[in-house]
Amino acid sequence: MKISTIIKIIKKLKNISDKVLPYSLQDYLKRKFGNGTYLSQVEFHIVDHCNLNCAYCDHFTPLADKNFCKIDDIIEDFKKLKKIFDNIGKIYIVGGEPLLHPNLLDILEPLRNIYPKSKIVIITNGILLDKQNENFFNALKKYNIALSMTHYPLKIDYEGWIEKLSKIGIKTYYFSLNRNKMKKQNLDLNGKNDKKIAFQKCWEKKCHFVRDGKLYVCTPAPNIHFLNKYFNLDFKLGKNDYIDLNKVKSASYINALFKKPIDFCRYCNDGEIEFKKYSISKKELSEWVKL
Ligand code: SF4
Ligand code: SF4
Repeated sequence: MKISTIIKIIKKLKNISDKVLPYSLQDYLKRKFGNGTYLSQVEFHIVDHCNLNCAYCDHFTPLADKNFCKIDDIIEDFKKLKKIFDNIGKIYIVGGEPLLHPNLLDILEPLRNIYPKSKIVIITNGILLDKQNENFFNALKKYNIALSMTHYPLKIDYEGWIEKLSKIGIKTYYFSLNRNKMKKQNLDLNGKNDKKIAFQKCWEKKCHFVRDGKLYVCTPAPNIHFLNKYFNLDFKLGKNDYIDLNKVKSASYINALFKKPIDFCRYCNDGEIEFKKYSISKKELSEWVKL
């Protein structure tokens, strides 16, 4: 039998087992005979605010109050995740701008200890890179933390940083190249959009997000409170829109849930995707909402 045929049979058997076996049994089998339970990626805010404030930011960061997230709370979240997922493919430290946090380095060692095999990445706009001292770069190296830069239209020598840091053994690369355009969320205030279509077209459904003991399929939903507060709006985030890590303990169950739309998807764009020229936010509602 050809190898490709064997792979096809294995895939079919896996699909069948995913549908018929209880989630707890799937988890048990994965831990016992497979590679353990796995989450593809997760990100978390280490700060909520940013020093750039781009219009259309999908974390609604220009509208967020200044807030440095507590390192202990983040570590607690990752301990909870570890009880469910043996491994996480990629862990993104984001914000806001992560380099604004005065104790950013304190998260690196515990995170690396909890998830020794994960690709851990700090995503930065690069503005504060030349303010970092030796301790910062040594810690990245020591705990094998990569640096990923979004290439904004700023006077920053991104290429130079990539070359310099790569030479001293820090994995450095672009998160997104030449960000001259931004995707506009075009949220529907009335929540009348087709959630299945919105989810189908969604780019962010794989950007899972953890905060305060809750795991979310994407980043816009858990950060919507910044938009709500700033403009006094009422985008509703219900109990079915997130997973309570104190209650749900099955990796297979969570991964199955993440393949389906959540109620909040009814607010998201189910039409054409719109791109806007990069600009600094004027904190206007039209940057995020379809008016
Ligand atoms: S740099 Fe990133 S986090 Fe900051 S406002 Fe721009 S898109 Fe948002
Ligand atoms: S709520 Fe749904 S459609 Fe909107 S960003 Fe999240 S996963 Fe995507």
